[in-house]
Amino acid sequence: MSLEIKTPVQFIKGVGPKLGDVLHKRGVETVGDLLEWYPRAYEDRRRARSVSTLEIDQVVSLRAQVLKVRSMTLGKSYRKMYEVIIGDQTGRIACKFFRVPYKGYFERFEPHQLVRVTGKVTEYRGRREFHHPDIQPINPEEESVDQVIPLYTETEGLNPAKLRKIIQFALENVEVLEDPLPKATMEKYQLITRQEALSKIHLPEANAADALAEFRTPAQKRLIFEEFFWLELILAARKAGVEKEQGVAIKNSGALAEKLRLSLEFELTGAQLRSFDDIRKDLAKPHPMHRLVQGDVGSGKTLVALMAATYAAESKFQSAIMVPTEILAEQHLRNAKKRLEPLGLKVDWLTGSHKKSEKEDVLRRLAAGEIDLIVGTHALIEDPVQFKNLGLVVIDEQHRFGVGQRQALKQKGVSPHFLVMTATPIPRTLAMTVYGDLDVSIINELPKGRQSIITRKTFQSKRPQVMGFMREQLKAGRQAYIVYPLVEESEKIDLKNAIEEYEKIKQEFPDYTVGLLHGRMKPQEKDEVMREFRDGKTKILVSTTVIEVGVDVPNANFMMIEHAERFGLSQLHQLRGRVGRGAYKSYCVLMLGHAVSDESMQRSQIMESTNDGFKISEADLELRGPGEFLGTRQSGLPGFKLANLVRDIEILQQAREAAFSLLKGDPDLKKQEHAAAKEFLDKGQAKVVG
Ligand code: ADP
Ligand code: MG
Repeated sequence: MSLEIKTPVQFIKGVGPKLGDVLHKRGVETVGDLLEWYPRAYEDRRRARSVSTLEIDQVVSLRAQVLKVRSMTLGKSYRKMYEVIIGDQTGRIACKFFRVPYKGYFERFEPHQLVRVTGKVTEYRGRREFHHPDIQPINPEEESVDQVIPLYTETEGLNPAKLRKIIQFALENVEVLEDPLPKATMEKYQLITRQEALSKIHLPEANAADALAEFRTPAQKRLIFEEFFWLELILAARKAGVEKEQGVAIKNSGALAEKLRLSLEFELTGAQLRSFDDIRKDLAKPHPMHRLVQGDVGSGKTLVALMAATYAAESKFQSAIMVPTEILAEQHLRNAKKRLEPLGLKVDWLTGSHKKSEKEDVLRRLAAGEIDLIVGTHALIEDPVQFKNLGLVVIDEQHRFGVGQRQALKQKGVSPHFLVMTATPIPRTLAMTVYGDLDVSIINELPKGRQSIITRKTFQSKRPQVMGFMREQLKAGRQAYIVYPLVEESEKIDLKNAIEEYEKIKQEFPDYTVGLLHGRMKPQEKDEVMREFRDGKTKILVSTTVIEVGVDVPNANFMMIEHAERFGLSQLHQLRGRVGRGAYKSYCVLMLGHAVSDESMQRSQIMESTNDGFKISEADLELRGPGEFLGTRQSGLPGFKLANLVRDIEILQQAREAAFSLLKGDPDLKKQEHAAAKEFLDKGQAKVVG
């Protein structure tokens, strides 16, 4: 019988109930699922090598014998590492695993057993080794004579030869499918059919080995394109929906904004002006703006927001700036008052700790239209808050806000314009997918005269020198941060460490006041500590990572990050952004602990080499992959089966272009050749969360 895509896998020859269960556990229910179980790599047997000839960074395949299997505990972290030592006549090499692929994995190997190992050769402390290679026990008689073999994720109870066999059977018997991609799209981007692509990805041609390894064969391109295409189609549809929403057009001469600009004691950067220009054009449209302003820490996003608020005020619209914490609200309030009150704007604020009478007063004036700009925390989205004429909502440090909260705030106005500001630079490609329905402005330029921050990694043995250096800075009148990691698993120990550090620093620096800030403190206590530091009452702040994003203390020019190896790149960069905000030369010391992995070493090196948040986030994305980079669930990124946001940027761009132009040309997808796309949108929306 012929198979269809929807046919349950049990109908494939050779799949019994037992194998059916194994497949089911991997989420493979149908023939279609099976065919979309793509090889994660290919083994090129023409490139088989011996241990002595292995070169770093090469992906190789090699036949060798198992010499030893062992496990060990890593440093203080209690994490386990497994090692399979293999060898041939020419030498030996370790295969390291930092997690167990599946239960019983290592029990499969016995000394002297013949295996085939495929993976990338890496280097650690001058020695070559494999990290998480693919290791298959081999039986010399059974070994296939093919030259390029697809490798699938190792799965308990399913041997690779068997898997290849059932996939092949499915491919040979599956009914020819109608291609879901529109013909015109396939022609324009030179894509082969889905049918052909599926076949070639599982049964590769030997001469394609190099292209396969780089994920650049026509089959791979076609399937990667398709994955991106469906995501982009959803985003395009969402964006089209937003563009249909009715909003208020805010249009005026811009005289007030110009006044603000002229009142500044500095020049706006080109990037700030460009962002404001983008915003102004958006505001003039009768649809709500949905724009994200991305700018590195200290790039001056606040002023862009104030320019926008000023512009709205000229047309008698109110603006709201929403921030995640009271201390940030206070900072914005001060700043906004200083900048806007001289222009005649009324600025006020609202937070959870406002007294009842104050709150009532603010609410009344808001509703009466007596406030032009309100700064606030979550309190702003609470029920009793009513605006007279809300035109613009600015959300600062957006990553702390959920979609629901944004919605709630939107409900307050007719349908206000909407500006999101984030200091977590996200590589453009990722921004395109994650915020695909927002327009993006990028502030990629720091104000003139900013000192770059000097960053150095070091070890505990150098601590006295580091402390000496910090003392010099304090003597010169500056302030310092000492940051302690707080990792959830060991929160208690870490907190204890932070408190001990605080006591130690107090003893070491008796002539300076020292503050302590950590997550277990009440919001008011935290604000109080931050305030004292900001006002220069405390000189040294020992803190866990709760130092608020966006807090501006220009006088602080020194930061030491303890156990820097435990932080991710983006987090290190965010933390470092607390210094280097004034005219003083600033320093960031990354103090490394004992168990420092290759990757954390690499992170420290990247930190030393650049201050550019965009470069750092690119590197971070590359090191960690998009899922971890954003936290998959939070980001709403679908798990791609084949596509990779770092490797496949170009294909992503093409797919995006294709999806957006498809919807533009046929907004309701009425054309026959767009039927599959329509069906996908109608029922597929739920698959990708927003
Ligand atoms: P962020 O983008 O991190 O929110 P801020 O808006 O807090 O940055 O700005 C950081 C500091 O830089 C503030 O003290 C602000 O007044 C100042 N600033 C903003 N724009 C400029 C500029 N064009 N030239 C000089 N200083 C600027
Ligand atoms: Mg800010």
